[in-house]
Amino acid sequence: MQLINASIITIGDELLIGQTIDTNSAFISQELNKIGIWVHHRLAVGDDWDEIWNALDEESRNSEIIILTGGLGPTADDITKPLLCKYFGGQLVLNEKVLEHIKYLFEKVYLRSGPLLESNKKQAEVPDTCTVIPNLRGTAPGMHFQKGGKSFFSLPGVPAEMKGLMTEEVLPWLKNHFELPAIVHKTFFTAGQGESFIADKIKDWEASLSPNIRLAYLPAYGMVKLRLTAKGENATDLENQMIPYVEKLKDLIKDYLVAEEDVPMEVVIGRILKSINKTLATAESCTGGYIAHLITSVSGSSQYYKGSIVSYANEVKETVLGVKRETLKTSGAVSEETVLQMISGVIVKLNVDYAIATSGIMGPDGGSKEKPVGTVWVAVGNKKKTVTKQFHFRFDRERNIQQTSMYALNMLRKFILADLQPNNL
Ligand code: ATP
Repeated sequence: MQLINASIITIGDELLIGQTIDTNSAFISQELNKIGIWVHHRLAVGDDWDEIWNALDEESRNSEIIILTGGLGPTADDITKPLLCKYFGGQLVLNEKVLEHIKYLFEKVYLRSGPLLESNKKQAEVPDTCTVIPNLRGTAPGMHFQKGGKSFFSLPGVPAEMKGLMTEEVLPWLKNHFELPAIVHKTFFTAGQGESFIADKIKDWEASLSPNIRLAYLPAYGMVKLRLTAKGENATDLENQMIPYVEKLKDLIKDYLVAEEDVPMEVVIGRILKSINKTLATAESCTGGYIAHLITSVSGSSQYYKGSIVSYANEVKETVLGVKRETLKTSGAVSEETVLQMISGVIVKLNVDYAIATSGIMGPDGGSKEKPVGTVWVAVGNKKKTVTKQFHFRFDRERNIQQTSMYALNMLRKFILADLQPNNL
Protein backbone atom coordinates (compact mmCIF):
# COMPACT_ATOMS: atom_id res chain seq x y z
CA MET A 1 0.00 0.00 0.00
CA GLN A 2 1.33 3.41 -1.01
CA LEU A 3 2.08 5.95 1.72
CA ILE A 4 -0.09 9.04 1.35
CA ASN A 5 1.62 12.25 2.44
CA ALA A 6 -0.08 15.42 3.57
CA SER A 7 1.07 18.94 4.35
CA ILE A 8 -0.68 21.47 6.55
CA ILE A 9 -0.21 25.17 5.93
CA THR A 10 -1.66 27.50 8.56
CA ILE A 11 -1.99 31.12 7.50
CA GLY A 12 -1.99 34.28 9.57
CA ASP A 13 0.42 36.85 11.01
CA GLU A 14 -1.18 36.20 14.42
CA LEU A 15 0.28 32.68 14.34
CA LEU A 16 3.79 33.97 13.67
CA ILE A 17 3.77 36.51 16.49
CA GLY A 18 2.40 33.92 18.89
CA GLN A 19 -0.87 35.76 19.51
CA THR A 20 -2.85 32.72 18.34
CA ILE A 21 -1.64 29.26 19.22
CA ASP A 22 -1.85 26.99 16.23
CA THR A 23 -4.25 24.34 17.46
CA ASN A 24 -5.63 23.76 13.97
CA SER A 25 -2.66 21.83 12.64
CA ALA A 26 -2.52 19.68 15.77
CA PHE A 27 -6.15 18.69 15.27
CA ILE A 28 -5.74 18.08 11.55
CA SER A 29 -2.57 16.03 12.11
CA GLN A 30 -4.29 13.85 14.69
CA GLU A 31 -7.28 13.23 12.45
CA LEU A 32 -5.18 12.44 9.39
CA ASN A 33 -2.95 10.16 11.42
CA LYS A 34 -6.03 8.28 12.64
CA ILE A 35 -7.01 7.38 9.08
CA GLY A 36 -3.49 6.43 7.98
CA ILE A 37 -2.36 9.61 6.21
CA TRP A 38 1.15 10.73 7.09
CA VAL A 39 1.59 14.45 7.79
CA HIS A 40 5.15 15.01 6.74
CA HIS A 41 5.15 18.81 6.96
CA ARG A 42 3.39 21.46 8.99
CA LEU A 43 4.17 25.08 8.46
CA ALA A 44 2.81 28.46 9.47
CA VAL A 45 3.05 31.41 7.11
CA GLY A 46 2.07 35.06 7.49
CA ASP A 47 -0.55 36.91 5.48
CA ASP A 48 1.97 37.34 2.70
CA TRP A 49 1.33 36.61 -0.97
CA ASP A 50 4.77 35.21 -1.83
CA GLU A 51 5.03 33.15 1.34
CA ILE A 52 1.69 31.44 0.75
CA TRP A 53 2.42 30.94 -2.97
CA ASN A 54 5.84 29.41 -2.28
CA ALA A 55 4.41 27.18 0.43
CA LEU A 56 1.83 25.81 -2.02
CA ASP A 57 4.54 25.16 -4.63
CA GLU A 58 6.87 23.56 -2.15
CA GLU A 59 4.33 21.36 -0.34
CA SER A 60 2.60 20.10 -3.47
CA ARG A 61 5.94 18.74 -4.66
CA ASN A 62 5.98 16.03 -1.97
CA SER A 63 2.42 15.74 -0.69
CA GLU A 64 -0.71 14.35 -2.27
CA ILE A 65 -2.88 16.36 0.09
CA ILE A 66 -2.38 19.99 1.12
CA ILE A 67 -4.64 21.47 3.76
CA LEU A 68 -4.65 25.21 4.42
CA THR A 69 -6.42 26.99 7.24
CA GLY A 70 -7.06 30.69 7.84
CA GLY A 71 -6.90 33.87 5.86
CA LEU A 72 -10.43 33.63 4.47
CA GLY A 73 -12.05 36.41 6.46
CA PRO A 74 -13.65 39.61 5.23
CA THR A 75 -10.72 41.82 6.22
CA ALA A 76 -8.23 43.29 3.76
CA ASP A 77 -5.28 41.34 5.13
CA ASP A 78 -6.97 38.05 4.25
CA ILE A 79 -5.45 37.49 0.82
CA THR A 80 -5.81 33.75 0.56
CA LYS A 81 -8.87 33.67 -1.67
CA PRO A 82 -7.57 35.94 -4.47
CA LEU A 83 -4.28 34.09 -4.25
CA LEU A 84 -5.93 30.69 -4.64
CA CYS A 85 -7.89 32.07 -7.55
CA LYS A 86 -4.68 33.03 -9.31
CA TYR A 87 -2.82 29.87 -8.28
CA PHE A 88 -5.45 27.52 -9.64
CA GLY A 89 -6.56 29.75 -12.54
CA GLY A 90 -10.14 30.94 -13.09
CA GLN A 91 -11.86 33.89 -11.49
CA LEU A 92 -13.82 34.82 -8.40
CA VAL A 93 -17.55 34.35 -8.89
CA LEU A 94 -20.46 34.96 -6.56
CA ASN A 95 -21.86 31.69 -5.22
CA GLU A 96 -25.59 32.17 -4.63
CA LYS A 97 -25.85 29.32 -2.13
CA VAL A 98 -23.03 30.71 0.01
CA LEU A 99 -24.61 34.19 -0.18
CA GLU A 100 -27.94 32.78 1.01
CA HIS A 101 -26.18 31.11 3.91
CA ILE A 102 -24.32 34.32 4.89
CA LYS A 103 -27.62 36.27 4.79
CA TYR A 104 -29.26 33.60 6.92
CA LEU A 105 -26.43 33.78 9.50
CA PHE A 106 -26.55 37.57 9.75
CA GLU A 107 -30.35 37.80 9.95
CA LYS A 108 -31.32 34.74 11.97
CA VAL A 109 -28.26 33.73 13.97
CA TYR A 110 -26.23 36.91 14.61
CA LEU A 111 -29.50 38.95 14.60
CA ARG A 112 -27.93 41.90 12.76
CA SER A 113 -30.32 44.42 11.26
CA GLY A 114 -29.65 46.41 8.07
CA PRO A 115 -28.18 45.40 4.75
CA LEU A 116 -25.25 43.04 4.45
CA LEU A 117 -21.87 44.81 4.31
CA GLU A 118 -19.96 44.64 1.04
CA SER A 119 -17.13 42.85 2.86
CA ASN A 120 -19.51 40.13 4.03
CA LYS A 121 -21.02 39.76 0.58
CA LYS A 122 -17.52 39.26 -0.77
CA GLN A 123 -17.20 36.16 1.37
CA ALA A 124 -19.69 34.52 -0.99
CA GLU A 125 -17.22 34.94 -3.85
CA VAL A 126 -15.24 31.80 -4.61
CA PRO A 127 -12.85 30.81 -7.39
CA ASP A 128 -14.79 29.07 -10.19
CA THR A 129 -12.10 26.37 -10.23
CA CYS A 130 -12.98 25.04 -6.78
CA THR A 131 -15.65 22.81 -5.33
CA VAL A 132 -17.30 24.73 -2.50
CA ILE A 133 -17.41 22.98 0.87
CA PRO A 134 -20.38 24.52 2.71
CA ASN A 135 -19.50 25.89 6.14
CA LEU A 136 -22.62 25.55 8.31
CA ARG A 137 -20.91 27.19 11.30
CA GLY A 138 -19.59 30.38 9.72
CA THR A 139 -19.47 32.74 6.79
CA ALA A 140 -16.26 31.65 5.04
CA PRO A 141 -16.84 28.52 2.92
CA GLY A 142 -14.24 25.81 2.54
CA MET A 143 -12.77 25.22 -0.92
CA HIS A 144 -11.44 22.14 -2.62
CA PHE A 145 -9.07 22.39 -5.58
CA GLN A 146 -7.33 19.74 -7.68
CA LYS A 147 -4.13 20.38 -9.57
CA GLY A 148 -1.52 18.05 -11.00
CA GLY A 149 -3.18 15.06 -9.29
CA LYS A 150 -2.92 16.75 -5.88
CA SER A 151 -5.82 17.75 -3.62
CA PHE A 152 -5.87 21.12 -1.92
CA PHE A 153 -8.35 22.07 0.79
CA SER A 154 -8.66 25.64 2.04
CA LEU A 155 -10.54 25.85 5.33
CA PRO A 156 -11.48 28.75 7.63
CA GLY A 157 -9.14 29.50 10.53
CA VAL A 158 -11.79 29.53 13.27
CA PRO A 159 -11.14 26.19 15.02
CA ALA A 160 -14.79 25.15 15.46
CA GLU A 161 -15.52 25.85 11.79
CA MET A 162 -12.36 24.08 10.62
CA LYS A 163 -13.16 21.04 12.79
CA GLY A 164 -16.70 20.84 11.42
CA LEU A 165 -15.47 20.91 7.82
CA MET A 166 -12.66 18.43 8.48
CA THR A 167 -14.92 15.94 10.25
CA GLU A 168 -17.98 16.19 8.05
CA GLU A 169 -16.46 16.83 4.63
CA VAL A 170 -12.70 16.50 4.20
CA LEU A 171 -12.03 13.26 6.10
CA PRO A 172 -14.92 11.34 4.48
CA TRP A 173 -13.73 12.58 1.06
CA LEU A 174 -10.16 11.45 1.74
CA LYS A 175 -11.31 8.04 2.97
CA ASN A 176 -13.30 7.61 -0.22
CA HIS A 177 -10.63 8.73 -2.64
CA PHE A 178 -7.48 7.11 -1.33
CA GLU A 179 -6.72 3.52 -0.67
CA LEU A 180 -5.81 3.89 2.97
CA PRO A 181 -4.66 1.22 5.40
CA ALA A 182 -7.07 -0.04 8.02
CA ILE A 183 -6.20 1.56 11.34
CA VAL A 184 -7.49 0.59 14.76
CA HIS A 185 -6.83 2.73 17.83
CA LYS A 186 -7.34 1.80 21.46
CA THR A 187 -6.75 4.27 24.26
CA PHE A 188 -6.19 3.48 27.94
CA PHE A 189 -6.48 6.28 30.46
CA THR A 190 -4.32 5.91 33.55
CA ALA A 191 -3.97 8.28 36.48
CA GLY A 192 -1.82 8.56 39.56
CA GLN A 193 1.53 7.48 38.08
CA GLY A 194 3.99 9.26 35.82
CA GLU A 195 4.99 8.30 32.31
CA SER A 196 8.34 6.77 33.26
CA PHE A 197 6.77 4.59 35.95
CA ILE A 198 4.17 3.26 33.52
CA ALA A 199 6.81 2.80 30.81
CA ASP A 200 8.95 0.75 33.15
CA LYS A 201 6.01 -1.37 34.24
CA ILE A 202 5.06 -2.30 30.68
CA LYS A 203 8.48 -2.37 29.00
CA ASP A 204 8.53 -6.14 28.37
CA TRP A 205 5.00 -6.05 27.06
CA GLU A 206 5.89 -3.11 24.80
CA ALA A 207 8.90 -4.97 23.43
CA SER A 208 6.65 -7.92 22.59
CA LEU A 209 4.31 -5.85 20.39
CA SER A 210 3.96 -6.97 16.80
CA PRO A 211 5.69 -4.54 14.36
CA ASN A 212 2.37 -3.29 12.97
CA ILE A 213 1.20 -2.21 16.45
CA ARG A 214 2.60 0.98 17.91
CA LEU A 215 2.29 2.45 21.36
CA ALA A 216 2.12 6.19 22.06
CA TYR A 217 2.36 7.81 25.49
CA LEU A 218 0.13 10.85 25.86
CA PRO A 219 0.95 12.37 29.25
CA ALA A 220 -1.02 15.27 30.74
CA TYR A 221 -1.66 16.69 34.19
CA GLY A 222 -1.63 13.79 36.63
CA MET A 223 -2.49 11.23 33.98
CA VAL A 224 -0.99 9.23 31.17
CA LYS A 225 -2.96 8.01 28.21
CA LEU A 226 -1.64 5.02 26.31
CA ARG A 227 -2.71 4.73 22.71
CA LEU A 228 -2.25 1.56 20.75
CA THR A 229 -2.42 1.89 16.98
CA ALA A 230 -2.57 -1.14 14.73
CA LYS A 231 -2.14 -0.78 10.99
CA GLY A 232 -3.04 -3.41 8.40
CA GLU A 233 -5.37 -4.42 5.61
CA ASN A 234 -8.51 -5.29 7.52
CA ALA A 235 -10.00 -3.70 10.65
CA THR A 236 -11.59 -6.89 12.02
CA ASP A 237 -8.30 -8.79 11.74
CA LEU A 238 -6.58 -5.94 13.56
CA GLU A 239 -9.19 -5.97 16.34
CA ASN A 240 -8.62 -9.70 16.81
CA GLN A 241 -4.86 -9.34 16.68
CA MET A 242 -5.00 -6.72 19.45
CA ILE A 243 -7.08 -8.74 21.93
CA PRO A 244 -4.22 -10.62 23.68
CA TYR A 245 -2.07 -7.48 23.84
CA VAL A 246 -4.93 -5.45 25.29
CA GLU A 247 -5.76 -8.07 27.93
CA LYS A 248 -2.14 -8.25 29.06
CA LEU A 249 -1.82 -4.45 29.16
CA LYS A 250 -5.01 -4.07 31.21
CA ASP A 251 -3.65 -6.54 33.73
CA LEU A 252 -0.31 -4.71 34.00
CA ILE A 253 -1.87 -1.28 34.57
CA LYS A 254 -4.99 -2.36 36.46
CA ASP A 255 -4.13 -0.32 39.56
CA TYR A 256 -3.97 2.92 37.57
CA LEU A 257 -6.51 2.28 34.83
CA VAL A 258 -9.31 4.83 34.84
CA ALA A 259 -11.02 4.11 31.53
CA GLU A 260 -10.53 2.11 28.37
CA GLU A 261 -11.21 5.11 26.20
CA ASP A 262 -10.06 8.67 25.70
CA VAL A 263 -12.38 10.58 28.04
CA PRO A 264 -11.69 13.30 30.60
CA MET A 265 -11.60 12.36 34.30
CA GLU A 266 -14.64 14.55 35.03
CA VAL A 267 -16.68 12.49 32.59
CA VAL A 268 -15.61 9.26 34.32
CA ILE A 269 -16.60 10.73 37.72
CA GLY A 270 -19.94 11.84 36.31
CA ARG A 271 -20.69 8.39 34.93
CA ILE A 272 -19.91 6.74 38.27
CA LEU A 273 -22.03 9.17 40.30
CA LYS A 274 -24.93 8.91 37.87
CA SER A 275 -24.84 5.14 37.91
CA ILE A 276 -25.09 5.00 41.72
CA ASN A 277 -27.44 7.97 41.99
CA LYS A 278 -25.25 9.88 44.47
CA THR A 279 -24.37 13.56 44.78
CA LEU A 280 -21.14 15.49 45.09
CA ALA A 281 -20.00 18.91 46.34
CA THR A 282 -16.59 20.56 46.60
CA ALA A 283 -14.95 22.81 49.19
CA GLU A 284 -12.12 24.45 47.31
CA SER A 285 -9.46 26.68 48.70
CA CYS A 286 -6.32 26.49 46.56
CA THR A 287 -8.10 25.24 43.45
CA GLY A 288 -10.44 28.25 43.60
CA GLY A 289 -13.36 26.56 41.87
CA TYR A 290 -11.33 24.81 39.18
CA ILE A 291 -12.67 21.39 40.19
CA ALA A 292 -16.19 22.81 40.03
CA HIS A 293 -15.41 24.17 36.58
CA LEU A 294 -14.19 20.76 35.36
CA ILE A 295 -17.21 18.93 36.73
CA THR A 296 -19.73 21.44 35.39
CA SER A 297 -18.12 21.44 31.96
CA VAL A 298 -19.81 18.06 31.52
CA SER A 299 -23.34 18.37 30.21
CA GLY A 300 -25.88 16.86 32.60
CA SER A 301 -23.67 17.33 35.67
CA SER A 302 -26.53 18.99 37.59
CA GLN A 303 -27.84 15.47 38.07
CA TYR A 304 -25.04 14.67 40.54
CA TYR A 305 -23.13 17.88 41.32
CA LYS A 306 -24.62 20.31 43.83
CA GLY A 307 -21.99 23.04 43.97
CA SER A 308 -18.81 24.36 45.48
CA ILE A 309 -17.88 26.54 48.40
CA VAL A 310 -14.80 28.41 47.28
CA SER A 311 -13.46 28.97 50.78
CA TYR A 312 -10.35 30.88 49.84
CA ALA A 313 -10.20 33.04 52.96
CA ASN A 314 -9.84 31.51 56.42
CA GLU A 315 -12.88 33.52 57.44
CA VAL A 316 -15.00 31.58 54.94
CA LYS A 317 -13.50 28.26 55.98
CA GLU A 318 -14.54 29.13 59.52
CA THR A 319 -17.91 30.85 59.12
CA VAL A 320 -19.33 28.91 56.15
CA LEU A 321 -17.71 25.50 56.48
CA GLY A 322 -17.30 25.42 60.24
CA VAL A 323 -13.53 24.83 60.33
CA LYS A 324 -12.47 25.52 63.94
CA ARG A 325 -10.57 28.77 64.55
CA GLU A 326 -8.25 26.83 66.80
CA THR A 327 -7.38 24.41 63.94
CA LEU A 328 -6.61 27.27 61.58
CA LYS A 329 -4.42 28.85 64.26
CA THR A 330 -2.49 25.80 65.36
CA SER A 331 -2.33 23.59 62.25
CA GLY A 332 -2.88 26.28 59.62
CA ALA A 333 -5.18 26.44 56.60
CA VAL A 334 -2.93 24.05 54.67
CA SER A 335 -3.25 21.05 56.92
CA GLU A 336 -4.88 17.66 57.20
CA GLU A 337 -7.11 18.82 60.05
CA THR A 338 -8.43 21.71 57.98
CA VAL A 339 -9.33 19.66 54.89
CA LEU A 340 -10.98 17.05 57.14
CA GLN A 341 -13.20 19.73 58.66
CA MET A 342 -13.87 21.26 55.23
CA ILE A 343 -15.24 17.88 54.12
CA SER A 344 -17.61 17.53 57.07
CA GLY A 345 -18.67 21.16 56.65
CA VAL A 346 -19.50 20.98 52.96
CA ILE A 347 -21.27 17.62 53.23
CA VAL A 348 -23.68 19.09 55.77
CA LYS A 349 -23.99 22.54 54.20
CA LEU A 350 -24.73 21.28 50.68
CA ASN A 351 -26.36 18.02 51.79
CA VAL A 352 -24.43 15.64 49.55
CA ASP A 353 -23.18 12.06 49.59
CA TYR A 354 -19.57 12.74 48.62
CA ALA A 355 -17.23 15.71 48.86
CA ILE A 356 -13.78 16.90 47.85
CA ALA A 357 -11.74 19.49 49.78
CA THR A 358 -8.48 21.17 48.76
CA SER A 359 -6.10 23.50 50.57
CA GLY A 360 -2.57 24.32 49.48
CA ILE A 361 0.08 26.83 48.53
CA MET A 362 0.10 27.25 44.76
CA GLY A 363 2.89 29.80 44.49
CA PRO A 364 4.88 31.58 43.39
CA ASP A 365 4.64 33.31 46.82
CA GLY A 366 3.28 32.20 50.15
CA GLY A 367 5.57 29.27 50.89
CA SER A 368 7.52 28.75 54.09
CA LYS A 369 10.23 26.38 55.27
CA GLU A 370 7.70 23.99 56.81
CA LYS A 371 5.18 24.37 54.00
CA PRO A 372 6.96 25.21 50.75
CA VAL A 373 5.14 26.26 47.57
CA GLY A 374 3.41 23.23 46.12
CA THR A 375 2.32 21.79 49.47
CA VAL A 376 -1.28 20.66 49.08
CA TRP A 377 -3.72 18.75 51.24
CA VAL A 378 -6.62 17.01 49.55
CA ALA A 379 -9.47 15.18 51.26
CA VAL A 380 -12.30 13.14 49.81
CA GLY A 381 -15.06 11.59 51.83
CA ASN A 382 -18.63 10.82 52.65
CA LYS A 383 -20.63 11.07 55.89
CA LYS A 384 -18.84 8.08 57.40
CA LYS A 385 -15.26 8.30 56.29
CA THR A 386 -12.69 10.71 54.89
CA VAL A 387 -9.39 9.96 53.19
CA THR A 388 -6.63 12.59 53.06
CA LYS A 389 -3.39 12.95 51.18
CA GLN A 390 -0.57 15.45 51.12
CA PHE A 391 1.06 16.36 47.82
CA HIS A 392 4.18 18.32 46.93
CA PHE A 393 3.87 19.83 43.50
CA ARG A 394 6.68 21.79 41.95
CA PHE A 395 5.21 23.51 38.96
CA ASP A 396 3.92 27.01 38.27
CA ARG A 397 0.68 28.21 39.83
CA GLU A 398 -1.55 27.25 36.90
CA ARG A 399 -0.15 23.75 36.61
CA ASN A 400 -0.25 23.20 40.38
CA ILE A 401 -3.96 24.01 40.33
CA GLN A 402 -4.61 21.66 37.42
CA GLN A 403 -2.51 18.91 38.92
CA THR A 404 -4.26 19.22 42.31
CA SER A 405 -7.65 19.05 40.65
CA MET A 406 -6.76 15.96 38.66
CA TYR A 407 -5.34 14.14 41.69
CA ALA A 408 -8.34 15.14 43.80
CA LEU A 409 -10.77 13.79 41.20
CA ASN A 410 -8.80 10.56 40.95
CA MET A 411 -8.82 10.23 44.76
CA LEU A 412 -12.58 10.67 44.72
CA ARG A 413 -12.95 8.06 41.96
CA LYS A 414 -10.95 5.52 43.95
CA PHE A 415 -12.79 6.41 47.16
CA ILE A 416 -16.21 5.84 45.59
CA LEU A 417 -15.15 2.57 43.94
CA ALA A 418 -13.76 1.33 47.27
CA ASP A 419 -16.87 2.61 49.05
CA LEU A 420 -18.98 0.40 46.81
CA GLN A 421 -17.01 -2.60 48.05
CA PRO A 422 -16.95 -1.95 51.83
CA ASN A 423 -14.36 -4.60 52.61
CA ASN A 424 -11.75 -2.78 50.57
CA LEU A 425 -12.03 0.61 52.20
P1 ATP B 1 -12.87 34.56 9.60
O1 ATP B 1 -13.95 34.41 8.59
O2 ATP B 1 -13.41 34.53 10.99
O3 ATP B 1 -11.99 35.76 9.39
P2 ATP B 1 -10.65 33.05 8.55
O4 ATP B 1 -10.76 31.81 7.77
O5 ATP B 1 -10.30 34.26 7.84
O6 ATP B 1 -11.94 33.24 9.44
P3 ATP B 1 -8.56 33.83 10.19
O7 ATP B 1 -9.04 35.23 9.98
O8 ATP B 1 -7.21 33.52 9.73
O9 ATP B 1 -9.55 32.79 9.59
O10 ATP B 1 -8.70 33.43 11.69
C1 ATP B 1 -9.94 33.50 12.37
C2 ATP B 1 -9.70 33.19 13.82
O11 ATP B 1 -9.39 31.80 13.93
C3 ATP B 1 -8.49 33.94 14.36
O12 ATP B 1 -8.92 35.00 15.16
C4 ATP B 1 -7.76 32.93 15.20
O13 ATP B 1 -8.06 33.14 16.57
C5 ATP B 1 -8.31 31.59 14.81
N1 ATP B 1 -7.27 30.83 14.12
C6 ATP B 1 -6.77 31.05 12.89
N2 ATP B 1 -5.84 30.16 12.59
C7 ATP B 1 -5.73 29.32 13.65
C8 ATP B 1 -4.95 28.18 13.94
N3 ATP B 1 -4.05 27.69 13.08
N4 ATP B 1 -5.10 27.57 15.13
C9 ATP B 1 -6.01 28.05 16.02
N5 ATP B 1 -6.78 29.12 15.79
C10 ATP B 1 -6.66 29.76 14.63
